[in-house]
Amino acid sequence: MKKTKNIAVLGCTGSIGQQTLDIISRSEGRYKATVLSAGSRADALIEAALAMRPALAVIADTDKYTQVKDALSPLGIEVAAGDNALAEAAARPDVDMVVTATVGYSGLTPTLAAIDAGKDIALANKETMVVAGELVTSRLKHSSTRIYPVDSEHSAIYQCLVGEKPESVRRLIITASGGPFRTWAADKIAKATVADALNHPNWHMGAKITIDSASMLNKAFEIIEARWLFDIEPERITAVVHPQSIVHSMVEFVDGAVKAQLGTPDMRLPIAYALGEARRTDYSLPALDICAADLTFSKPDTDKFPCLLLAHEALSRGGNTACIINAANEIAVAAFLAGKAAFSDIYDTITATLARVSFVAQPDYDDYVATNAEARAVAAEIINRK
Ligand code: MG
Repeated sequence: MKKTKNIAVLGCTGSIGQQTLDIISRSEGRYKATVLSAGSRADALIEAALAMRPALAVIADTDKYTQVKDALSPLGIEVAAGDNALAEAAARPDVDMVVTATVGYSGLTPTLAAIDAGKDIALANKETMVVAGELVTSRLKHSSTRIYPVDSEHSAIYQCLVGEKPESVRRLIITASGGPFRTWAADKIAKATVADALNHPNWHMGAKITIDSASMLNKAFEIIEARWLFDIEPERITAVVHPQSIVHSMVEFVDGAVKAQLGTPDMRLPIAYALGEARRTDYSLPALDICAADLTFSKPDTDKFPCLLLAHEALSRGGNTACIINAANEIAVAAFLAGKAAFSDIYDTITATLARVSFVAQPDYDDYVATNAEARAVAAEIINRK
């Protein structure tokens, strides 16, 4: 009988976390959720732990520690709290693979801890690669960690690259749904409401990534993520709009051939592929009806979606630029979701923050921590003045 793979699901209460637990439940004992973590949603963490019976449950918000401990300790489930506990959980000896499904900058420290401990990673937290791709890549060189992308586009590219030589690749073509505002005029987008922005046509995701999809900053982040994951020059990464979200991305080769990976817009496919270390398993998920798929492709409109241009700005300036963009975006998106900023304030806040936060050409870990803190403070000040 095959050994059970022990999985730490960081961010188990979010959309990717919940779908990861679904695949683990369908795996007939192939996988076990050994560690479950959540940011602040104690009730959802307790519910997941009651169902999955992990060895350890971690709540990042220390104010919720007692609530989680009272619910789970009697069942023999260890309970810990705080950001350090999250990093320690990722490095535990009984963990075989870490699924990083936390939202935003908070994914960086546990991801680095997993790499330093040589754990394989199913990478769902793209912000880790956006903020500190260069640092993560250099740490990987000294580690036995293998990274399996969970982001659907990067999973697709990974699948297209299987069996191919790096020198055969001409360019990566990342598909973008275009989000809810694809057909909207620019002046209407500027005044979009929270409900408008959360109304994604194809994907059901968490609020943060859904807003990033509406601004198309998500696609800029995915270009940055691809640059580091696949070690390819930014000029050889293109985004195309594909409203149906059936072709999850493509690779063009030097002979002109293009390989694509297709599937239903269901994140459980890339999650299952990552958990299986690029091996395929039948989980009885809904199949793609290819005859019902009407596939179209077009160039993105960067006048309407200027956030898309931030990818190449971040990669050409380098250093801590992407970290500044990410921090400013996290503050601006939170303000937008709270009704304290307009949709157009997201891009404006990012560019204004970029102009004010000090540039560091070769940041180390402490520089990223400092940049994140400074950029968040500057962005908050900019938003409050509006
Ligand atoms: Mg994606």
